[in-house]
Amino acid sequence: MSDDAGQPPAADDERWVAITTRDAAATPPFVYGVITTGVYCRPGCAARQPRRTNVRCFADALTAERAGFRACKRCSSAANLAGEHQAAIARALALLDGASEAPPIAALAAVAGLSRSRFHRIFRDTVGITPQQYIHRWRMKRLDQHLSRGARVTDAALNAGFSSNNRLYDSGNATGLAPAQRRRGAPGEDIRYGITACALGFVAVAATARGICAIELGDDVAGLLQRLSVRFAQAHLAQDPALHDWLAQIVVQIDRPAASLSLPLDIQGTAFQQRVWRSLQQIPLGSTRSYRTVADEIGQPGAARAVAAACAANPLAIVVPCHRVVREDGSLSGYRWGVERKRDLLDREAAARERAAADADAAMPALRHAPAQAEGSGTIVTAGD
Ligand SMILES: [Zn+2]
Repeated sequence: MSDDAGQPPAADDERWVAITTRDAAATPPFVYGVITTGVYCRPGCAARQPRRTNVRCFADALTAERAGFRACKRCSSAANLAGEHQAAIARALALLDGASEAPPIAALAAVAGLSRSRFHRIFRDTVGITPQQYIHRWRMKRLDQHLSRGARVTDAALNAGFSSNNRLYDSGNATGLAPAQRRRGAPGEDIRYGITACALGFVAVAATARGICAIELGDDVAGLLQRLSVRFAQAHLAQDPALHDWLAQIVVQIDRPAASLSLPLDIQGTAFQQRVWRSLQQIPLGSTRSYRTVADEIGQPGAARAVAAACAANPLAIVVPCHRVVREDGSLSGYRWGVERKRDLLDREAAARERAAADADAAMPALRHAPAQAEGSGTIVTAGD
């Protein structure tokens, strides 16, 4: 990232190859601005390729935007942006985690690579409370740690400190916030998690007492931990070996996709998101749908963009198969966990469907044209509010 400090560099050979081969999985990730258009792209972008001399490279979209470039409409999917915002907030939270005194908000914004106002907005949208509220809470937590025996007293102080000016922590419904917003960051919840290796890298499962509330894919354990700590910034997060069975089922599902996977889910979202996610679960294994078709299927023709946003917000990789939604022309659009993983998942599912068809041919020749099993995986359980 230091190479973005002064003049943004032109593409070095490695990055130029990634751009010309449209390698969306180029590591470390970067974006490139085109000085003649003022637009920046990801290396996988299908847009027309620029001249090398017009290309300037940046570590991430935020840096490109600060340098005055604007996002390309083709490759700046909500999923990509959400990932970048999460990473930015994660950097700020990591700074806070390692600090003994709360750093000034300007320092948190700086490490996130954001202006103060954008940091405030993106922090609030990602974590569910403002940075000031979060720091206040962080201080109370620290206080709690210092008082070895005074947990009850501190709880009382905590309640007194928050209930007057921050109703987010009230359990009642009179907060004036939408349920999804009130629950963002999972305030006060006990969240258990487990992480293991899988065919796509690593997979993390997080669960409340009601069921699985998050399934994340990532390249390493540290990155997944960081993502969970952002997503559940206000929860009590603890590792739990008892999640092993669920993790194992998901690992097998990735490795050898099958139509039947039944896991208890605690999926939080708006009514619209829940409808989209339920609809995704009806897409048969080995098939894909366009955003527009999904919009039609939930009775909201014309809501393709909102459907794409709901897919990007899907908290449950694999089990809610948002990877089965593609562009109208069949090309892969963004995927919250990386477009390469999306491609890999779809390839595996297509192979699984062929295997199933071959097995059926061998076992029951008369039924060879029976449709592939169409059940979605898992069941959406709407919890609480
Ligand atoms: Zn682009």
